[in-house]
Parts: sequence; C-alpha cells; structure tokens
Amino acid sequence: MAKIGINIATGSLQQAEMIVGIDLGTTNSLVAIIHPESRQPTALKEHNASSLVPSIVHFDPYGNPVVGEEAKKFLETDPQNTIFSAKRLMGKSYHDLKENAGFFTYKVIDDDTDSLVKVQVGDRFYTPIDLSSFILKELKQRAEHILKTPVTKAVITVPAYFNDAQRQATRDAGKLAGLDVLRIINEPTAASLAYGLGLRKDEEKTIAVYDLGGGTFDISILKISNGIFEVLSTNGNTYLGGDDLDRAIVQYWMGQAGITEDDLQGSKELSQGLRLRAEEAKKILSTEDTFSVEWNNETLAITKEKFEELIKPLIDQTIQSCDQTIQSCMHALADSTLTVKEIDTIVMVGGSTRVPAVKQAVSAFFGKPVNDSVNPDEVVALGAAVQADILAGNNKDFLLLDITPLSLGIETMGGLMDVLIPRNARIPTRVGRQYTTKVDGQQDMRISVYQGERDLVKDNRKLAQFSLKGIPGMPAGLAKVEVSFLINADGILVVRAKELRSGVEQSIEVKPQYGLTDEEVEKMLMDSITHAKEDMQVRVLVEARTEGEQILAATEKFIAKNTTLLNREELVATAGIMQALQLALTMEDKNLIYSKIDELNAFTRPFAEKAMDAAVSGALKGKTIIA
Ligand code: ADP
Ligand code: MG
Repeated sequence: MAKIGINIATGSLQQAEMIVGIDLGTTNSLVAIIHPESRQPTALKEHNASSLVPSIVHFDPYGNPVVGEEAKKFLETDPQNTIFSAKRLMGKSYHDLKENAGFFTYKVIDDDTDSLVKVQVGDRFYTPIDLSSFILKELKQRAEHILKTPVTKAVITVPAYFNDAQRQATRDAGKLAGLDVLRIINEPTAASLAYGLGLRKDEEKTIAVYDLGGGTFDISILKISNGIFEVLSTNGNTYLGGDDLDRAIVQYWMGQAGITEDDLQGSKELSQGLRLRAEEAKKILSTEDTFSVEWNNETLAITKEKFEELIKPLIDQTIQSCDQTIQSCMHALADSTLTVKEIDTIVMVGGSTRVPAVKQAVSAFFGKPVNDSVNPDEVVALGAAVQADILAGNNKDFLLLDITPLSLGIETMGGLMDVLIPRNARIPTRVGRQYTTKVDGQQDMRISVYQGERDLVKDNRKLAQFSLKGIPGMPAGLAKVEVSFLINADGILVVRAKELRSGVEQSIEVKPQYGLTDEEVEKMLMDSITHAKEDMQVRVLVEARTEGEQILAATEKFIAKNTTLLNREELVATAGIMQALQLALTMEDKNLIYSKIDELNAFTRPFAEKAMDAAVSGALKGKTIIA
C-alpha cells in the first residue's frame, strides 16, 4: 500500500516519501521531482526564478557560506573567498590537479602531494566534500521551501567517469547536508531516462550523450538492454565548455576595442564586465543573429556569423572526441568496433548545447537529428527524478533493475556451483560464507565466480576468476577463507576472499549483466528447469565422490603417520578396501560409493581408537601427575 501524507502548507494529499533528483553540476546545480499530480519530471524553482543554482560558495569574513547567484557576484571581486568548480576537486589529490593549478583563483592546498586536497579560505580549511555539502544543503533548503515538506532522500548524479572514491565523496557530501543518498547515477544515464529511454524492458539501444556544460565536455556511449544502462565508453575534455565560448567573445571585443591583456589583469571590473556581457551575447546569439550593447562608452557588438567562426575550433575538438569514443567501443559480442551508424539516439545535455552551431555539428557528425526537446540544463536533474520515482516504488514496471536475474556463486569441490546470492535477490546486497583449504600447506585458493541456475559450474556462465595467494601453510581444513559477494546499487559485483587467520585478502570487480540479453537469461532459467532432475543426480554423485576422496586422503594420511600401530594384515586389508572405494569413485553409482565409504569407516574405526589411546598415553608420559 502506498503511503499518503498531507502537505501541511496546502492541505493537499501527497506521497509521504518524496525522493528528489539532484544534478550536482560543475557550473550549475538543481533539484527535480516527479510532479505528484501530473507525473511529469519537473525542475523545482521559486516563482519567476531560474531552476539553476550556480555551484558557487562564497564565504563572508566570518566564514559563513552563501551559495548560488548571491555567491556568483563575488567571483571577480573577492576571488580568494569564492569557490567555484568544487566538483573538479572531488576525490582529487594535489598531484592530480597540479597541471591545472592556474585554473583556480582560490587556494587549493594539500598536506603531501598524494593526499586529498583542501581549500583554504582565510584561516579555515574545507574539503571538496564540505564545499559540495554546502551546495547540497542549499538545494535541500530550497526544495523544502518550495515543496513545503522535509526533503531527506535523494538521487544524485555524477559524471560517468567518476571513480569509486569520487562517487563516495559525493555520497558523503549528501550525508553531511542531511540527505540520505539512495543512489548515485551517471549523468548520461539520467539524461537518457529523462527522454524515457531505457524505461521499456525490451528496449535495446545504443545512445550517445553529448554534454557541453559550463567548463566541461563529456561524450558517453551507453547501451541499454533489460532496463540496464551500461557505459560502453566515455571521453571528453574537463577543461572545455561554455566558459571558453565566452572567452572567445571577450578576446574578440578586446581586439576590437584595443584592450590589452594587461588592462584586463589590472581591472577586475573590466574583466568581470566583459565576461558577463560576453556570456549574455552568447546566449542571445543562440536565438538572434546579432548582439550589441553599450558599455563603458563602448559598443560591444558581435554577429552570429562571427561568433560561429570564433568557436569552430572548439566545436571541432568535441567532434573529434566523439569520433574517438565511438572507436573505442567494442561490440559486446562481435570482435569489431562500433560505427557512427550504429548509434540509435543522440541526447543533448548542458546549457552550451543551446548554441545552434553545436547542435548542427553534432547532428552532422552522427548523421541524424539530435534529441534536444528537453531543457538541456535541466535534463540530468529531471532524469535523476525519474530514477528517484522508480526507487520510491511509484513505477512498478521498472523494479527489475533492483534484482539479480540469475544466481551468483562460486565453484566448490567437484565443480559444483555454490550459490551465494540467489536469483531475484534485491540489490544492493552482501553475503559472506566461509571455505577452507583442501590439502595440507595449501597456499593458493582459486575463486571462480559463476552466474546461473545449474548445479555444475560447467553449465553456468563464468564471470571471473582469481587466486587468493599467500595463505600461510597449515593443515587442510584449518584455514578460514571468507568469501563475500557484494552487489552495489549500480549492479557491480565485488567478490572478496580473505583468509581470516592471516588477514591476506584479494578482491575482484565484475559486471554480471555485461553482454547478457533477456533471451539468454530466459534460456538459462529454462535450462535449469528442464535439467533439474539430472542436475540433482549429478550433484548427489559429485557430493558422494567428494566425500569419498576426502576419506581416502584422510586414511592415507592416517596410515602414513601411524604405520607402527597397524600390523601387516591390517595394512593389506585397508589398502584393499581403499582400492574398492577408489574404483567406485569412477562409476556413476552414488550408493556404491557410500557403501564403500561405510566399509572403510567401519574397518578403520578401531585403528583410530588405538591411535587415540596411544596419543593420550603419549601425552601423559613426561608429565608428572600429582595425586
Ligand atoms: P554544468 O553541467 O557544467 O554545471 P550547465 O549545463 O548548467 O553546466 O551549462 C552551463 C553553461 O551553459 C554556461 O556556460 C552557460 O553560459 C551556458 N548556457 C546557458 N544557456 C545558454 C544559451 N541559451 N546559449 C548558449 N549557452 C548557454
Ligand atoms: Mg552538467
């Protein structure tokens, strides 16, 4: 049953659990929801205001942060205390940034070159997580003000190329801002969702997402199948965006008005003024053919034609990136690369894709019209809202994303599949199980990961294999190896093996859904049903054989250690029964194996007792018993 709440401000009914979608951008950030009545993705904004919140934090002399348009005003007048592009710092060390150190007008510092950066403002230090949390807190407050309800749960987007540390940093920022971050999703995935792509389960598509924002350019190639998005490849330039288009206009005007680089350096008012007017000109030229304004007794004018000529090299660069990305995509099955023709859909993202010349260049390169009907600076947040709505359970058809379609497990003795995560398990999920070594002094343990429903791993799909090395030598069965499976919300499986006594550990990451189609999943399920009976027979046989092998090994070991306890006839008789068991192991009869196991057990039991007595009396020798 859905939970219903009452909005105390308006008295209207609403869903109790409002999960918002957040685009935490380099230049601009915003919040979107699925409108409870219209069911349409909607960007949140105050009446007559923009939905975009500049991702800028300004600190006043007391260290109080102000976020958004208010902070943007200080960009040029108080650069040391005005932090822009904090997203570029997420999960980065100074070492990572040093090539672009000149980009930042505020103080980016580090303790040593490999630790994560901090930003120094006056005598205070902020981590990129702190800075992002200020932006998220502002977004949360705005959303609460507009919705008149507490906002505590969110889906936040990140670039597809963000690594685990950067994703975790984004999660942490959310937490600091008082948000429960239910999921981190890729920006291109969100943009596709906003266009309704991937919402139909049977849809198979290859999508290019072209994202030209304020300071960054990303091109991502995605593949959707089974409602699962997979990033085939990403490329781009983290220092190319709308700001560069503005700069091109500023330079043009400087040339026209005879303003030098030194003049610009000398006057913040001049540089800020020119930059703001250049951005204004750029935006106007997205719809008009000319721009002109009087400023400082100068006429600043530019035609669309001139502008397009100035920015052509920049646009060409992005197209080259597109070409490279496509070339680096391999077909999931065929041994060849993807071609432009095979891209089904192109999605435009980022404010700078409003520039008509950008759209034209992109559609010319891909040879088809681009998708630009959704507002490009809102599209990522709108898609995050679509994902949030799915998580809230309002979109029942789409739950499939959250379960494992096939069982996941590892190979155990005799080639059996030991399932750790059964099919249809909810994700994210974590399961651990302990295993041990098979032979004395075993130092390596091979972990083979499989997917499927059959009892023998040879009938399932192998996903990965690795060896846990460096297990300290100890008798068979003594080592404790914990194997854990973790599937995170993005569907990535992390398999970790750890020997608990020594702490040696090894892990591997796999994408279980990679290259798996709906039909294949179905076939694997059907096979497991049609082969259920024979699989069961094979399993019991393998189990009997494994037990037989273990007993043979144990008996051999026992005899080697206790030869003096057994006389010649006993030794010969034991060898005879062992041979019979050995022979039974090669046959398909589990009952025969068990009867030979019983026989061997019965015959050797007295020896074991004898050995035990000897061990006890041996242990007592040499010790003085005080009566
Ligand atoms: P980010 O993803 O980096 O946060 P956005 O997607 O919000 O950035 O894009 C911001 C950029 O879009 C800025 O450079 C801005 O000037 C540019 N932009 C916004 N509107 C237009 C427009 N109408 N024409 C051209 N550029 C625009
Ligand atoms: Mg963006």
